[in-house]
Amino acid sequence: MDDAMTALPLVFDAPRRGKPPRHLADLTREQARAAVTELGQPAFRADQLARHFYRGVTDPARMTDLPAAVREELTGALLPGLLTPVRTLSADGGRTRKTLWRLHDGALVESVLMRYPDRATVCISSQAGCGMACPFCATGQNGLTRNLSAAEIIGQAVAAAAAMADGEVPGGPGRLSNVVFMGMGEPLANYARVRKTLDALVTPAPHGLGLSQRSVTVSTVGVVPAIRRLTEEGLHVTLAVSLHAPDDELRDSLVPINTRWKVADVVDAADAYAARTGRRYSVEYALIRDVNDQPERADLLGRLLADRRAHVNLIPLNPTPGSRWDASPLPAQREFVARLRAHGVPTTVRDTRGQDIDGACGQLAAADRVEGVPSVALPTPSLEPPVELGAEADA
Ligand code: SAH
Repeated sequence: MDDAMTALPLVFDAPRRGKPPRHLADLTREQARAAVTELGQPAFRADQLARHFYRGVTDPARMTDLPAAVREELTGALLPGLLTPVRTLSADGGRTRKTLWRLHDGALVESVLMRYPDRATVCISSQAGCGMACPFCATGQNGLTRNLSAAEIIGQAVAAAAAMADGEVPGGPGRLSNVVFMGMGEPLANYARVRKTLDALVTPAPHGLGLSQRSVTVSTVGVVPAIRRLTEEGLHVTLAVSLHAPDDELRDSLVPINTRWKVADVVDAADAYAARTGRRYSVEYALIRDVNDQPERADLLGRLLADRRAHVNLIPLNPTPGSRWDASPLPAQREFVARLRAHGVPTTVRDTRGQDIDGACGQLAAADRVEGVPSVALPTPSLEPPVELGAEADA
């Protein structure tokens, strides 16, 4: 089964495509001010445009602090519409909303806004598609189309913040409080743009969305050099690593990047990040029936993480089209949780919001559904007893 599971190549270098039109959110404040000056306007107009952008105002007619004669020109030059909503699907009484966006070149991405009693979280995409080839993930099975620009990533969060502020989500007007990079793509394979996005998310209004760093979560498959770079840059956003297996043998097939950076490398890099921030990182683990949910693996994971600043977030697998893999049954989930906790590892089970609109983790595969391309069939899980687990991952 290993051959079939690693059939897709790992792709780090995104295909080069025509760049999206220039947008204020791709520029530094100085660059934006220079661009406005070039258009014959005073530099402070850049700040006015930024204020409108981060509030989700796109209609020039509403930009009443700009002279009517220059509104169209300035918005055309610096706030081009980069994300066109194709459709929105709702679930959970409207409190979960998935939006499919079309980009300037026709590429499609999705974002999901989830409102809870105490917070509102948007799950955003950092790439159109993904090159990481994880066999259980719908996005990963469709390959990488291209990197998103910073403005295209930031725009998804801005749209969510505006939807909350405008009271479009049941529960009255509210505030976007959290952003997670758990949509399409591998954020750390698009480092520079994601780095710029992080700045925009945490910069106070009017030049950003003013979120706290800890309420922004970067989720990575384990691009170790990029985790180290994030550490060196002194950021303290929340880090999530998608482990999915405690042993290299299984992880090589579930998370193909493991053939390059091993379990021990990933947790070492995450430890260094946690040491730097003083906060726990999150370990994502999709529970797949008879694949990675055995009690032995729970113990191995528990021993691996026992003395680390880690928190395990178990995600019952969201089955993807064509896959014969399934979520672990409840008793197996409970046993897995109990064993991790017995090792002293803080553990939670992720709720599976948005499942019925294919908006849950790993289900985002916009291009596939729109173009009607048949999904890749995934291998059947092995029914053999779990392999003998060595001590290698205990390091
Ligand atoms: N590339 C990033 C973001 C991926 S999506 C990363 O790998 O972390 C966020 C999480 O959903 C990841 O942990 C990913 O492995 C997980 N995921 C992907 N497909 C899934 C599925 N079908 N069911 C449950 N979780 C899934």
